[in-house]
Amino acid sequence: MTQAPVRTRIAPSPTGFLHLGTARTALYSWAYARHHGGQFVLRIEDTDVARSTQDSVDQILQSMHWLGLDYDEGPIYQMQRLDRYQDVIEGMLAAGTAYRCYTTPEELDAMREQQKARGEKTGYDGRWRPEPGKVLPPVPEGVKPVIRLKNPREGEVRWADLVKGEIVIANKEFDDLIIQRADGVPTYNFAVVVDDWDMAITHVFRGDEHINNTPWQINIYQALGAPLPLFGHLPVILGEDGLKLSKRRGAVAVSNYEEGGYLPEAMLNYLARLGWSHGDHELFSSEQMVSWFDGSHLNKSPAQWDPAKLAWVNAQYLKQAGDDRLAALVLKQLHSRGVQISGDVPLASMCALYKDRCTTVVELADWIEMYFVRVAPKAEEVAAHVTDAVRPALEVLRERFAEIEWNAGAIQQAIKETIGVHKLKMPQVAIPLRLLVCGRAQTPSIDAVLSLFSRDEVLARLRSV
Ligand code: GLU
Repeated sequence: MTQAPVRTRIAPSPTGFLHLGTARTALYSWAYARHHGGQFVLRIEDTDVARSTQDSVDQILQSMHWLGLDYDEGPIYQMQRLDRYQDVIEGMLAAGTAYRCYTTPEELDAMREQQKARGEKTGYDGRWRPEPGKVLPPVPEGVKPVIRLKNPREGEVRWADLVKGEIVIANKEFDDLIIQRADGVPTYNFAVVVDDWDMAITHVFRGDEHINNTPWQINIYQALGAPLPLFGHLPVILGEDGLKLSKRRGAVAVSNYEEGGYLPEAMLNYLARLGWSHGDHELFSSEQMVSWFDGSHLNKSPAQWDPAKLAWVNAQYLKQAGDDRLAALVLKQLHSRGVQISGDVPLASMCALYKDRCTTVVELADWIEMYFVRVAPKAEEVAAHVTDAVRPALEVLRERFAEIEWNAGAIQQAIKETIGVHKLKMPQVAIPLRLLVCGRAQTPSIDAVLSLFSRDEVLARLRSV
């Protein structure tokens, strides 16, 4: 028997941005499919019509694209598959694995109250569930029914979870789930099964908040006579406060990190390690991850979001990133700040000079911005460093700068000669130069920093000596 090709999917609901947790699930699903030479499908679960938006779909697609998580099929929209769900519902009604339920929301509320009063577990009591010999209530007029799964009452649901191991849950824990609402729109647990079946999904990775849904889904597969995929439920990601990562307490959208100056390969690397490991490798490419990611070594316990580690990972990738690529990213950052940049600017060389000391592209842009926007140094720093003892040397230097060839070597030479003549130490001149030109006392080597300005700009900034 030949084995079915591996097919995985990510199935976000378009009710917001692409969440970090979903991105991690997408990454694992993608890497697993790629590792096995299979396919990865993107499905948009938009059956929550009130909350789903096109803007959210666009954001999700954009973030997937930014991360480089390419899919082989999709996006497939559930709301375009309503006819298919309807067909399957009719088949289930005919087979007796689902039934119409006319219980109104008010009746359900009353049912719940009574169950609570009796100290019972709340849930649908099965009043419309057909059983041999049972007489159902008369169908009320004007009530549109929902469709419920006739969930087995006996036995248990069992699966070997790819992450958590063997899971067993008794069917009596589950009531008869609504699989189609009165308006004809299917509910999540039903649509997801029909889709995963139709799309021949072999491995379902998702967050473990869905673990309680899986028994219902397995029972729906069984009702349909459909082959079961394997399930892997990934533990939650906890924020620094030990609570589930949430937008109420920090940045959880992938797009926040793009805007925050993180590189996509750093995000992927960090997300990969958040719940999975391969030996003690901390830094690896997505190609390496694909070659290693066989579904083993997935952590069972929750992952801890660690911004400092993410920053470290990003800094490593920033150091290795090509200067032209960084220049384009910095340019985008500066444009978004409204910084005007004209003429031939050595942005790539600027990136080369500063990237080693930055953790993000935003920080890199913070450095480079000073080439285009004058930054007034603090008055007390100027007073402390631009003293009468050094002012004559600075004036001489300004004259030298007007004449020399404009490059780091010549600039360094001019500074050295001037401090020699004026019997000064390097910092006595370098710090004032930094303050006056860059607005700050600390920078990389002053000759390299100055050489990336135009000569005229440096002379203009030194005029305030
Ligand atoms: N739309 C569901 C979610 O975003 C998908 C869950 C699943 O992968 O089955 O949580």
